[in-house]
Amino acid sequence: MSGFRVGSFDRGRIASLWHPFLPAQAATSLLEVDLEELWRSGKRLILLDVDHTIVQWRQETFPPGIEEWVAKAKGLGFDLCILSNTRNPERLARLATKLQIETVRDKFKPSPAMFRLAMIKFKRKADETIMIGDQIFTDVLGANRCGIEAIWVQKMEGNEFAGTKISRFGERILRSTLYKALVTPVDESPESPEIEGAKPTGEKTLIRQIIKFCIVGGTSFVIDFGLSFLFLRILPWNGVLLSQSLGAWLQTSFPSFFGWAKDAQTAAIPILGGLASFIAMFNSFIWNRSWTFRVRGKAERIAQLRRFYLISILGAVWNTLIFSALSNVISGHPNRSLVVAKVIAAGVVAVWNFLGQRYFAFRVAK
Ligand SMILES: [Mg+2]
Repeated sequence: MSGFRVGSFDRGRIASLWHPFLPAQAATSLLEVDLEELWRSGKRLILLDVDHTIVQWRQETFPPGIEEWVAKAKGLGFDLCILSNTRNPERLARLATKLQIETVRDKFKPSPAMFRLAMIKFKRKADETIMIGDQIFTDVLGANRCGIEAIWVQKMEGNEFAGTKISRFGERILRSTLYKALVTPVDESPESPEIEGAKPTGEKTLIRQIIKFCIVGGTSFVIDFGLSFLFLRILPWNGVLLSQSLGAWLQTSFPSFFGWAKDAQTAAIPILGGLASFIAMFNSFIWNRSWTFRVRGKAERIAQLRRFYLISILGAVWNTLIFSALSNVISGHPNRSLVVAKVIAAGVVAVWNFLGQRYFAFRVAK
């Protein structure tokens, strides 16, 4: 995983909400874990994850140094135990036999079950135990749930289980928050190459922002679509659909405004569809503010919200204008024209919204 950062973490630096996911340390590999230091800090039992911590997924040959590291730990007096809920106990047994260490199998991490069983087995307390693993949502979270400190190691090279890939995505999102608690060499020596590499350049930031912006846009589209459907086709009002009842009222109360609509439900589209879009825009505001453009502080929030809605509503107007103007772009092919018009309008408006948010709505006063 690129951008992985090493060092020890200080809980005091981030909100307690994140503490269950916070390791005590992060290291690029098991081999970088300082055994003497662990012993000095009172640790006596080392719990080990298997895949991508001591061996690659599905492999049975340990990378160079792993067996020596385990032998050294035993030499220092540590007890070692593998925690694994593998569906291939034969492989686990072979690995454990090679390393000559114990294993525990029980419920999936982050369940505390395996951690507690191992502590009972070796008669050790939580503060004498350390967990080492490559996953935040299983190894680190499970350890923290039992009061055990965890060392988060960088995943080894190579493929992994499909479900793990999803959890990696969550890790990538979460780790920027966790790194705020990292006491790294950057605090002492800013020229550390590790940190220099992790620091995004301007171009990388832009690409990251575009990707995040597209993800947020996707979620807002789903919200917009889902709410429009709910408001127009599902929600009832006085025994009929809300859209029919509202549309009929609009058509009788403002006939000159809603005369164009072919039926009551259509007349309700600008209001109910607009409401759905308005709510979806708020979703974009929240996520683009804190995640895409990483705006901090609360002082400017209301002004940003106002600028954001100005950009977004103008964007919706462009969308309608471009879509209407191009709706007959390929003469004789109304359906194809519609698709082309929609794609061009969506593309232009996405660029408009991105630039508007980056340079206007969320601009940072220097
Ligand atoms: Mg693992």
